[in-house]
Amino acid sequence: MDLKSLIRDIPDFPKPGILFRDITTLLRHPEGLRYTIDLFAQKILDAQLKADYVVGIESRGFMFGTPLAYKIGAGFIPVRKPGKLPAAVHSIEYQLEYGTDCLQVHQDALNPDSRVLIVDDLIATGGTAKATAQLVNKIGCQLVGFGFIIELRDLQGRQNLPDVPIITLVEY
Ligand code: AMP
Repeated sequence: MDLKSLIRDIPDFPKPGILFRDITTLLRHPEGLRYTIDLFAQKILDAQLKADYVVGIESRGFMFGTPLAYKIGAGFIPVRKPGKLPAAVHSIEYQLEYGTDCLQVHQDALNPDSRVLIVDDLIATGGTAKATAQLVNKIGCQLVGFGFIIELRDLQGRQNLPDVPIITLVEY
């Protein structure tokens, strides 16, 4: 199945000069969705990445991370923007092009011996995934890898990530 044909390109969103890769058209396609999750899980298994938990990044990381966790027999843990998680949290601040952003995870969601796979829909500069890895490291967990549906290769985001396997399905 040609996944690229199910991903919609929106020029100049959310601001001029950005070509937005819209995965809502992939999610709404029954066979496309099933194929994507099955292939994602297969690649994780082929790479022998054994995770206790999939850590998904708000919000599109939830859409792919939760069914992936189900398929590989892991639990799912959301990493969210500030003010969304109800219990005590660990936080990490990270640099954006302009200013800073913050991500949080529940303090009791992970243990130091947890094996973690970080998932998002797309890697661009890698800043978001890197910050999530730092959050996981702060807790002392073992990061086994990253999974993304889409990789924007020109931005070389993977160079910003720690040296663990990176699984991707579609490259631009
Ligand atoms: P980055 O931290 O630069 O790797 O950006 C990754 C995050 O921004 C992911 O959560 C993506 O969903 C989103 N993102 C960045 N660039 C794009 C793009 N061109 N199309 C769709 N989403 C994007």
